[in-house]
Amino acid sequence: MSDKTILVWFRNDLRIHDNEILLEAVRKADKVLPVYCFDPYYFQLTETGAHKTGNFRARFLLEAVADLRKNLQGFGAELIIRIGTPAEVIPQLAEEYHVSEVYHHREVAYEETNISEQVEAALWKMRLNLKHFIGHTMYHKEDLPFPIKDIPDSFAVFKKKVERDSSVRPVVPTPDHISVPEIADAGELPTLQQLGLTDPIDDPRATDYFQGGETAALVQLHKSLSIVDGFTKQKGRNASDCSTKLSPWISIGCISPRQVYWEIQKYGNNGNLLKLELLWRDYFRFMFKKHGQKFISARNQAAELAADQDVLFDKWKLGETGVPLIDAAMHELNATGYISNQNRQVVADYLVNTLKGDWTKGAAYFEEKLIDYSPASNWGNWAFIAGVNDAKESKYTIATKLPKELEAKTDFVNTWQPSSIDEAGDLVEA
Ligand SMILES: Cc1cc2nc3c(=O)[nH]c(=O)nc-3n(C[C@H](O)[C@H](O)[C@H](O)COP(=O)(O)OP(=O)(O)OC[C@H]3O[C@@H](n4cnc5c(N)ncnc54)[C@H](O)[C@@H]3O)c2cc1C
Repeated sequence: MSDKTILVWFRNDLRIHDNEILLEAVRKADKVLPVYCFDPYYFQLTETGAHKTGNFRARFLLEAVADLRKNLQGFGAELIIRIGTPAEVIPQLAEEYHVSEVYHHREVAYEETNISEQVEAALWKMRLNLKHFIGHTMYHKEDLPFPIKDIPDSFAVFKKKVERDSSVRPVVPTPDHISVPEIADAGELPTLQQLGLTDPIDDPRATDYFQGGETAALVQLHKSLSIVDGFTKQKGRNASDCSTKLSPWISIGCISPRQVYWEIQKYGNNGNLLKLELLWRDYFRFMFKKHGQKFISARNQAAELAADQDVLFDKWKLGETGVPLIDAAMHELNATGYISNQNRQVVADYLVNTLKGDWTKGAAYFEEKLIDYSPASNWGNWAFIAGVNDAKESKYTIATKLPKELEAKTDFVNTWQPSSIDEAGDLVEA
């Protein structure tokens, strides 16, 4: 047997299940070195003085990395944790542990691919290979009915062809053992303060607590799908009114979209709407792969900006516009890091089309605040709403609200919130 160690560089794939880099490393090497690196780049202050990663998302990430470490320990393995630039940390560890190859999942957005390239270049100087895997989408790139460069820009055409000609691969097995080399210093999980942040204050009005990690993701998967299923079975209720709230876990890969897909399959047609949502997610990622930064910056602003847009933007972000639904949604975002898809569309549409604000500032604000921030989904959705891409898709017509719908009955507009389903499969509402 060869004496081979493969470094598994965890990034937005913080899971054991359906994780091809982990499985392949176990299969190809004698020893596996699992590593997570807290990159200071993501915790810096932006030009506007905001945090690139807000404290709700940072806390969620810390919980997810801690859970990954615990789950790896269940296999007798250990996760090495470092704070530092991956282009320095990964080569240092590769040298220290005599690694012969590094595995990671390929990203699509500019900043993430840039970091991969820096790591690749640094490893290359050591004659080491960074091997890229595909693992962030529901459909595998190789199974699409067209090469990336020919992916239809229209979501409707993309959907029609993919659903007709492609299928989702099965999840990959979970390794039955993981052998790691002897690790001298596994490293401590940083605190929020070490990352330059303060502890978030949990608002008593929040209806959900998002606990980071694969363990919580699997609980949420089963809980939310049985609720959605029960909901869709009820007469007069529309599946589009409920959601899984899985996005924070999917965004950093505590669960794979493929695993969610196969779980949804068990619910027959009641899961179709969720598959459609996951397809939107794939679509944005593939658009970034095809167009790169041009996908969001082809035409910077569709509309003319208001002269006093800075003042209006501050009112928007603080929830001080005077429009009840907009303000309630922004209060909820600021206090919890999460708002529904519909409210995201409404507040984004309001900033762009009513206040004539700069959509890129709105997207950057969401980047800081959202607990489920994901570059392709966030910037892709904003670009659509701003009309700098193909904004004629029907999904985005709901962003235009009737005046009456802009009235919120209370602050923190809590839409329907089931607490459980009974034995007959009916919902028991909170
Ligand atoms: C302006 C704006 C910004 C957004 N920013 C993000 C973001 O940073 N990260 C993010 O994950 N989603 C983003 N979304 C998409 C969507 O709002 C969230 O994914 C959704 O609210 C998550 O709720 P859920 O998990 O209950 O979704 P469900 O309805 O249960 O859908 C299942 C999964 O499909 C994916 N999904 C659903 N809708 C979309 C969509 N429109 N675009 C892409 N993926 C989708 C998510 O991974 C979600 O968890 C944004 C939408 C808008 C309008």
